[in-house]
Amino acid sequence: MKTITILLPIFNETESFPLLKENIQQVIKDNSNYEWIILMINDGSTDNSLEKMKNLCQEDHHFHYIDLSRNYGKEIAIMAGIDYAVGDAIIIMDADMQHPIETIPEMIKYWEEGYDDIYAQRQNAHEPWLKTITSKAYYNFLQKTTNIPIQKDTGDFRLLDRKCIEALKEMKETDRNNKGMFSWIGFKKKGIYYQQKQRQYGKTKWSYYKLINLALNGITSFTTTPLRIASIFGIIISFMSFLYLIYIIFKTLIIGESVQGYPTLMVTILFLGGMQLIALGIIGEYLSHIFNETKRRPGYFIREYK
Ligand code: UDP
Ligand code: MG
Repeated sequence: MKTITILLPIFNETESFPLLKENIQQVIKDNSNYEWIILMINDGSTDNSLEKMKNLCQEDHHFHYIDLSRNYGKEIAIMAGIDYAVGDAIIIMDADMQHPIETIPEMIKYWEEGYDDIYAQRQNAHEPWLKTITSKAYYNFLQKTTNIPIQKDTGDFRLLDRKCIEALKEMKETDRNNKGMFSWIGFKKKGIYYQQKQRQYGKTKWSYYKLINLALNGITSFTTTPLRIASIFGIIISFMSFLYLIYIIFKTLIIGESVQGYPTLMVTILFLGGMQLIALGIIGEYLSHIFNETKRRPGYFIREYK
């Protein structure tokens, strides 16, 4: 019998546990021709999620948990889950059960047909319009700047075959962007649609600030195009400045007009100053990745694994 591990990253989800338990036990019951292991990753919860996990493990032998030493963020929590997952495939789900369990049999069906990465695409995101627009822009940018096909409207909800797990385990970077990495490793992919549910209990851990961080990280750990854009802009602006310089010299020497153009001067200085700051910022983003990765620290520490 094949074994499937469900990974559940958990950060302060006390209220979601009854629903989680009910849903997961339903999955195990409905798909009894597979061996199921439920691996909960406690990402440094400050409420009593850990206690709930321990209770679950005692009640039901399918459940296991990893207790991380602090809150590392969902990306690292999933990394830990991937490192510890056993079995022939994993399914990554949100612990708040916004991902419908009805999608799981379909994932398994395609997996049995030979697909390695069955990713679920949100069909109707109940998201505020600003989040919809910005996430669309983000996907488009990533898609246009990389040669790798990026899966649209896709989160972490997916089934990954052992092959993908082994590939991901070899990628030791600590500035992680799962979505990018899932695309990058390739393998046989299949998209299926699902209706994202509203969060029932607890509240979202994603602020706009965190989302912007995630997006910037995604871009700068996945493509070096922003650096290229900065260079191209630099070249274009230098060239235009050069033409303007010739024009000014010509004007001063031939027409004899000098000391004037304070507005032009200000605009030029401010514009170029802004451009330089942006370019420096972009370089800084990449530098910070280099900084983080050269430390070669492990991605996380665990306190307990059961
Ligand atoms: N999560 C986590 N660590 C964090 C933030 C979130 O493990 O630092 C987990 C959280 O418990 C949930 C999943 O990641 O299982 C998705 O989080 P959330 O529902 O807050 O995100 P949203 O669905 O609003 O995008
Ligand atoms: Mg959620």
